[in-house]
Amino acid sequence: MIRTCPVGAFQMNCYLVADEETRDGVLIDPGDESGRLLDLIRTEGVTIRALLLTHGHVDHVMRAQEVKEALGVPLHAHPGDLELIQAAPQQAMLFGLEPGPIPVVDGELREGTDFRAGSLVFQVLHTPGHSPGGVVLLSGGNAFVGDTIFAGSVGRTDLPGGDFRQLQRSIRNRIYSLPDDTILHPGHGPATTVGEEKRSNPFVRALDS
Ligand SMILES: [Zn+2]
Ligand SMILES: [Zn+2]
Repeated sequence: MIRTCPVGAFQMNCYLVADEETRDGVLIDPGDESGRLLDLIRTEGVTIRALLLTHGHVDHVMRAQEVKEALGVPLHAHPGDLELIQAAPQQAMLFGLEPGPIPVVDGELREGTDFRAGSLVFQVLHTPGHSPGGVVLLSGGNAFVGDTIFAGSVGRTDLPGGDFRQLQRSIRNRIYSLPDDTILHPGHGPATTVGEEKRSNPFVRALDS
């Protein structure tokens, strides 16, 4: 089960992902509107096992500490974005958002190590470019891609630690290499598929193979 919950001024997609049978779940990118997220979890009858961050930008992480304390669960992120996460309050001020407590990361997400949360399993793909520690979280045919790629667009690379060539490599090697019917759940805007973006994304073209 996947519930998409756009939150905050940037309409960032927070994702509630849960096993229909066991009701084990994770929350991906609890960036804003913590009260609404906690209500959703209660309504769906899900037991959250962990909070996961696709990357360290403020719109994705600003309420992570509040949600984490309310649920008593660990927060996991890629080590490459720890500095950004620590600087969340400064990022908030830069973007005119209301700062919250600095999220304390409890565990790592690393490529090559599957992340297990109760009965859920996520494969971690490291996709730097939009930020140094960006990851894709892949579970079955669903990929949670953060701001690396959007329907018809890609993440900006002009923020600290951003790099367009790296982003291009990440998208080609880690996302376009997935099966065409893989559903991409981005940090903003509607879901898409690998096949659709390979065909029509104007910013990163698929290489002929
Ligand atoms: Zn971002
Ligand atoms: Zn974002």
